[in-house]
Amino acid sequence: MTISFLNLKPAYEELREECDAAYHRVMNSGWYLLGEELRAFEAEYAAFCGSKHCMGVANGLDGLQLALRATGIGPGDEVIVPAHTFIATWFAVTSVGATIVPVEPKADTFNLDPDLVEQAVTHRTRAIIPVHLYGQTVEVAPLFEIANRHDLIVLEDAAQSHGARYCGRVSGSLGHIAAHSFYPAKNLGAIGDAGAVTTDNDDFAHRIRELRNYGGSQKYHHDRVGYNSRMDELQAAFLRVRLRYLSSWNTRRRQIATTYLTELAGINQITLPVVPEWAEPVWHLFVIQTPERDRLKERLDAVGVATIIHYPIPPHLSGAYRELGYSKGSFPIAERIADSVLSLPIGPHLSVDDARHVVSSVKSVLEAVAID
Ligand SMILES: *Cc1c(COP(=O)(O)O)cnc(C)c1O
Repeated sequence: MTISFLNLKPAYEELREECDAAYHRVMNSGWYLLGEELRAFEAEYAAFCGSKHCMGVANGLDGLQLALRATGIGPGDEVIVPAHTFIATWFAVTSVGATIVPVEPKADTFNLDPDLVEQAVTHRTRAIIPVHLYGQTVEVAPLFEIANRHDLIVLEDAAQSHGARYCGRVSGSLGHIAAHSFYPAKNLGAIGDAGAVTTDNDDFAHRIRELRNYGGSQKYHHDRVGYNSRMDELQAAFLRVRLRYLSSWNTRRRQIATTYLTELAGINQITLPVVPEWAEPVWHLFVIQTPERDRLKERLDAVGVATIIHYPIPPHLSGAYRELGYSKGSFPIAERIADSVLSLPIGPHLSVDDARHVVSSVKSVLEAVAID
C-alpha cells in the first residue's frame, strides 16, 4: 500500500458533472474576465467568511501585496510578520518596499506569539500579518489589543485557513483585511492560480478593485499605478462549485486529524499539534514535531508513505533574504520548528483506513529507530 501526500484528481472526479457544467457555462458565455461568475463567487465567498466585501485576484501573493498597497503601506513602514511561515508572507512586504520585522512563533501552536509582537512594535510599525498556519487561526484578541493601542492594520494571511474559526468567527473576517489563496492544494483550491481579498472596509475594497485592474474602476482611466491581478471567470466558476463542498471536505479532514490525534497520542518521540479551546482548525496540514524527523521521513518514504516538510528553511535563512543579515540562531524557535516538523498526509480524499496505515507505519518506523 502506498500513500501519496496529495492527489488532486479525486476532487475533480467527485464533482465532475458540476465542474464540467461550470466549464461549459463559461465557454458559452463568451465572457472570460470580470464577469458574472466572478461577481457571484465574490458574493458567495464574502458570505462564507462573514465579510462585507470579497475581491477575486490572481493568486494569494497578489492578495497580500494588494492588501498592503490598499492600506497604504510602503517604504519606511515596518510590518510584523511571523518568522515561521511560507515565504510569500515576507515577499508581499518586500514587494511594496516596506520593512520586514520577523517575530518568533509559539512552539506549540506554530503561530505568532502576542508577547513578542508587543516587544517588536516601534514608532514605524504600521501592520501585523498573522498567518493562520496549517489551518488553525492565530489567537486574535491579544493581537487586536496591541493593534488598537498602536493604531496598526491587522492583515490576515488566510491562505491555509478557509473556514477555520476563532471563537466561532471565520478566518478572513477576523482582521481589518485578509488575503486568501486558492492554489490547487489549498482547502479551497482552483484549477490553477487564484486568490482573494476580504474586508469590511469600503475604502480598502474600492482600492483593491482598482489596483487589481490597472489602477482604475473605469476602462482607460488610471487613477493609481495598478497591477493586472484578476481572477478569471473559469476559476471563479470552478471555485463556486467547490465552495459548496468546502465545509463537508473540511469535516473529512477533521476525521483524519482526529484519527491521527487519537492513535498517535502517547508516543514520546512525537509532539502532536495543539488545538486551543477557542480554535476550530480546518487541518490544511497535519504537522507533527519529532527529533527523529529526517530518519522518520526517509523510512516512511521507503515504505511508500509520502510526507513533506513545511518548511525546511525559515525565510530569514533563505537566499532571498541574505542581505537582511540574519544567521543561524537569529530566530531559534522558528529554526527548531524547521528542523523538527513533518506533515503527514491529510485531505478530503484520504480515507480513515489510509490514515490508520500512516499511523502504523509511523509507529513501526519509530520502534525500529529506537532500537538502532
Ligand atoms: C499558499 C500561500 C500563500 C500564497 O498563495 P499563492 O496563491 O501561491 O500565491 C501565501 N501565504 C501562505 C501562508 C500560503 O500558504
